[in-house]
Amino acid sequence: MVQRINIDRLSRDIEALGRLGTDPAGGISRPSFSRADLEARSWLKARLAEAGLAVRQDGAGNIFGRAEGRGKPVMVGSHIDTVIRGGKFDGATGVLAGLECLRVVRESDLPHSRPLEVVAFTDEEGSLTGDFLGSRAFTGQLNRELVERGLTHVGPPLAEILKGTEFTVESILEAGRNRPEVEAYLELHIEQGSQLDEEGIPVGIVDRISGKRYRVCSFIGKASHAGTTPLELRQDAFLGLADFALKSTQHIATQHYGSLVTVGKVTLHPGVFSIVPAQADFTLEFRSASGEILRAMDKELLAMAEDIARTRGLSYVSKVIDATEPVAIPARILDILKEECQKLGTPYLTLPSGAGHDAQILSTLTDAGMIFIPSPDGISHSPEESLRWADLEKGANLLLAALLRLAA
Ligand SMILES: [Zn+2]
Repeated sequence: MVQRINIDRLSRDIEALGRLGTDPAGGISRPSFSRADLEARSWLKARLAEAGLAVRQDGAGNIFGRAEGRGKPVMVGSHIDTVIRGGKFDGATGVLAGLECLRVVRESDLPHSRPLEVVAFTDEEGSLTGDFLGSRAFTGQLNRELVERGLTHVGPPLAEILKGTEFTVESILEAGRNRPEVEAYLELHIEQGSQLDEEGIPVGIVDRISGKRYRVCSFIGKASHAGTTPLELRQDAFLGLADFALKSTQHIATQHYGSLVTVGKVTLHPGVFSIVPAQADFTLEFRSASGEILRAMDKELLAMAEDIARTRGLSYVSKVIDATEPVAIPARILDILKEECQKLGTPYLTLPSGAGHDAQILSTLTDAGMIFIPSPDGISHSPEESLRWADLEKGANLLLAALLRLAA
């Protein structure tokens, strides 16, 4: 007999959690350890306990609900933090679908030999110290510098944000000292792209997740008077950056189609109307589903920037601040998901994930897999983010079936 989740109950949970952290400017702002997040954590723990699960939390604030069994646990989860003015489906859907699956398992006393755990990982969105603080702690991949100083975030130090919570920098580092044994990890997530929606397919089975590099870079030239320095004598740092932004995009589009490069943030110094920019600081991120291409892109973009700097009388400096490797989802997980889709009569599409997810970090520890459901119009990280309950029902039923297979 095929077991089914209760979509009414799951949708009520998603709506309830989506009321915590509503931003007056629209959408939901619930970064980890904010007041809204602390409220959401209490709410989630109460739901897990209500479902009869054993609730625990580690020093990094990762929250677990467990149904006992023997041996290594099969885990399911995602995150409940959001970006500023994000939506109510990114992350929360995966955690609450996991909770709903475990609720059905307990209610119907479905057989499982291994323990089942639902987990909400801290700060997947990286508003504190760079992406994936919680899952990096859980898999033993934290370093003190990352936690204390943060790598991609410019803002108050973590220790300050943690004041008024039960967590400290030390408790987070402590949480990262183990590498627990996990049988498998599954994550249901909205696609955040438009492929499933465009093709009208309710479920996506992710076969690989892109890796990325984050660099902070600068072109350095010389400040000079905008009214008196002839164009040919300028060492204009901004023109170096402009040249690089265009050429790098053309290069990736023609040489590594499918991989991506983005200049996301730019600061010019001194940043004045009448002064030729002396320095252009910028963030450079690039992504690829292939580790080999990622390494090639790193070399090629560096050579290109240095070449542009030479031509324009500038210097160029660049530093990696974060890196994740591409992940291929193991055949064992793909096979189970495909077979269960067939049994459920659910049409599916196999597709890659361009966005990073906790599953990528978990894959360093265990077999990890992902189920996508369509994002209407591909919209995410926005108050307009949405999903269709009918798609979620199909995705969550698949999640339940796969969990039971893995925990049999
Ligand atoms: Zn997410």
